[in-house]
Order: sequence, then C-alpha cells, then structure tokens
Amino acid sequence: MTELPVVVVGAGPIGLATAAHLRERALDVVVLERGDRAGAAVREWSHVRLFSPWSELVDPAAARLLDAVGWDSPDAARFPTGGDWADRYLDPLAEALGDVVRLRHEVTGVTRLDRDVMVDSGRDEAPFVVHVRTPQGDLRLRARAVVDASGTWSGTGPLGGDGRPAVGEREASDRVSYRVPDLADPVTRERYAGRHVVVAGTGASAKTALIGLARLPGARVTWLVRRAAVGDAFGGGEQDQLSQRGALGEQARAVVSGDGVTTVTGFRTERVERTGERLAVVASDGRRVEDVDEVVALTGFRPDLSFLGEVRLDLDPRLQAPRALAPLIDPNVHSCGTVYPHGVRELEQPERGFYPVGMKSYGRAPSFLALTGFEQARSVAAALAGDREAAERVELVLPETGVCGGAGTFDDAPTTGGCCSVPAGPALVQLGRAD
Ligand SMILES: Cc1cc2nc3c(=O)[nH]c(=O)nc-3n(C[C@H](O)[C@H](O)[C@H](O)COP(=O)(O)OP(=O)(O)OC[C@H]3O[C@@H](n4cnc5c(N)ncnc54)[C@H](O)[C@@H]3O)c2cc1C
Repeated sequence: MTELPVVVVGAGPIGLATAAHLRERALDVVVLERGDRAGAAVREWSHVRLFSPWSELVDPAAARLLDAVGWDSPDAARFPTGGDWADRYLDPLAEALGDVVRLRHEVTGVTRLDRDVMVDSGRDEAPFVVHVRTPQGDLRLRARAVVDASGTWSGTGPLGGDGRPAVGEREASDRVSYRVPDLADPVTRERYAGRHVVVAGTGASAKTALIGLARLPGARVTWLVRRAAVGDAFGGGEQDQLSQRGALGEQARAVVSGDGVTTVTGFRTERVERTGERLAVVASDGRRVEDVDEVVALTGFRPDLSFLGEVRLDLDPRLQAPRALAPLIDPNVHSCGTVYPHGVRELEQPERGFYPVGMKSYGRAPSFLALTGFEQARSVAAALAGDREAAERVELVLPETGVCGGAGTFDDAPTTGGCCSVPAGPALVQLGRAD
C-alpha cells in the first residue's frame, strides 16, 4: 500500500493545497481533475470578487512550493476575483506540482479492490481503486488513500422550497439561472436590464446578485426569502472580522431597503407557472409573485455523492457532511456562520483512508472558507504521513462573522443558546495564522 499514491479528487484550491502538503511530506500524490484546467469550478465564477484578501487565499505549503519556483505573489491585502484566484495562484500551483495533476480525468467511482461496500473481510488492507473517465477511455488507479476535494459547485440547489425542483421549474429552465449573473457581460446585462427578476436565497451569492441586479437600469427585483424574517441574513456588518464580507451584507441591506427591491419573507416556492411570455412564482401557501421575467435561484450547493456508493461514509443526515464536523457548521443550530478550525479527527470516515475535504466536506452547509480547507489539507496530509500529533494540532484561527446569538438560519422562532458559543476544543484567539 505504501508504494501507491494518495489520489486527490479535484484540482480546486483545496485539492491542490492537499497535494502541496502531501509533497512536503514526501508522499506520492496524483490529482485528478475533470475540467481542462486547474480551478475549473472557480473559473466558472471568474467575475465574482472574493470577500477574502489574498493573504487568506493562499495555502502555506502551496506558497512554499511556489516561492521555490520564483512565483510572482500577489499583494496580500488585495481582494481578487475568482478569475484572478485561478490565473495568479491555481494555474501556477498546478504547474509547480507538475504532471501529478491530470486534467480531463473525471472520477466516476471509488472502491476497495475487489470489495463492494458490504464486504468487511480484509477491507482496511485493500487498496482503493479509483475509477476514472478520460478522453482516451476509462481507467482505474490504485491508491493508498483518497482525498475527495471535488467541491459542491456543480450541485446547485433548486428553487423549490422543499429541496426538490418546483413544479414547472424544469420547463422554465430558459428563464431560471442558478449562477450569480455576470453583469459586466453585455449579453447577460441585456437579459436582466429592465426586467422583473426574482432572486431566491440568502447567502453571499444571493447578496451579490441582489446588489448587481438592483443597480441595473430599469430592473425590478423581488427577493424571496424562505425564512419568516430577514433577521441576520445580512451578516455582522462592521463586527465581521472579514471586512468585505461585512460590507457585502451592508450593501445588500441598503439595496434591499431601496425602491427597486421588494422582499417577500416566508416564501416557500412550490410552483413556477407560465402566463404568456412571463412567469408566476407560487408559494405553498398560495401567495404568488406575478409578471416575472427571470429567476435567479441561489439556494446553496449540494455534494455529489453518486461516485461514493461503494465507500463507507458516516454523514450527518441533514447536512451530508461528516457527522463529527456537522455540529460545528449546522445552520439549524446557529446562524453566525463562524466555524472553528478542525482537521482529520472531524473528517475521518468508517472507510479508513478516505477523507472528504474542502467545500465537499461541508455538504450542504454554507460558510466554507478556503482557510478552513487549507487547515484540513495540512491535517489530513500529516495523518497520512503518520504524524498524528501534527494532524491533531490546530494551527489556525479563523475570522468570525460577528453575528451572534441569533436564530438558526431556518428557524421561524429564536433558538436558545445563541450561535457563537464556542464548542469544546480550540479557542478563537485572533484573526490570522497562529505562530
Ligand atoms: C461565488 C463564490 C465566492 C466565494 N468566495 C469566497 C471567499 O471570498 N473566501 C473564501 O474563503 N471562500 C470563498 N468561497 C468558498 C470556497 O473557498 C470556494 O468555493 C473554493 O473554490 C472551494 O474550493 P474546493 O477546492 O473545495 O472546491 P472547488 O473550487 O469547487 O474545486 C473542486 C474541483 O473538483 C473538480 N471536480 C468535481 N468533481 C470531480 C470529479 N468527479 N472528478 C474530478 N474532478 C472533479 C472540479 O472541476 C473543481 O475543479 C466562495 C465560493 C463561491 C462559490
């Protein structure tokens, strides 16, 4: 087994960071990426500006690897777009890692050699077999461990309030988008300018869309919010230790209180109807939003578990995140979005040697930060190298959102206990990386 590489699924920010940490630990690694470039998912939101500065978007092991090849590092205090992140960091990092990064390699299955998910016998000693689709045909790679950093970008949530597509949603697919519109693109601008646009969702993407759409000439925006009150959806404002995240919330608050945006709370979409050239969006309680031209549904992301059917997972039934991680990130319990650093202990699965990391590890939960993923990558690489002490050490403190004591995100009534009570374990000390 020790002769075999660790296979990392996905060459996004966290998959590549994992590869950099594994390389520092002198472990063989192969990174399989289904896109034709590293950071394929990030490139799809190239136009979105991140609320984290460069200083929080570069993994330390990746920086060491890049510095060794004379990397032109960006200004740590500036805020890149997704496109900048991919061009200036992910591409050079993939290049520095070399031919271990295999593009157009889509993972379609992960198994144990000769064993389906039911078989106990010899399971932990059997290598993993990673099933891969490439333009040249299918292949299988053996691995000593598998780190799933495949993200959740392709698993967009539907408009339907119960988590399934609303009746008529698919039929209206020409008018429903699940991505933050790129309003600098003339074609997209044309699509939304002067129209009545419904925006559904309360996360950072929905706020970004609201701000952009409300500023378009002649656009009328209706904001659909599933919960009973907007509450702390705008975040912690100046209290947010990530200033641009706070500012995004404040801008959205200002836009929403202006004339161009109508907010409808407690709206759980059940149907989308076509009325001539336009749509009507209908809630399960019968309320209707009429004369709609376009819908932008930004209701969160879901993990793709389809290629993990032969892997023994222990996921939280609500979040589809590792059971030990779920209490730290569950929006049913707290709305603050502050997450405490964690590593291999929270990520380990009954399938020994299989680790979900990055956005994928959060399942459906929001609030993932790249910094969190870099710490996961460091910890998992240490564990794979047999350095359990380093794996369990927490080397990171994370920025808090500044939203405290509110109701859970989906609650209609306040919950008890607030949201920012620090769980047993590592304390938050200050923003930034610990010495
Ligand atoms: C619009 C937006 C803005 C964000 N802003 C911030 C921010 O300001 N600060 C911050 O800290 N975080 C931010 N995030 C959250 C997070 O840091 C990013 O989503 C980050 O890209 C997550 O990295 P990842 O490597 O886990 O997943 P991804 O970036 O999604 O990478 C996963 C990779 O896996 C590949 N892949 C998927 N399935 C397969 C498969 N079956 N086989 C092979 N390859 C596969 C994909 O093509 C992709 O390249 C933002 C997220 C979004 C969507």
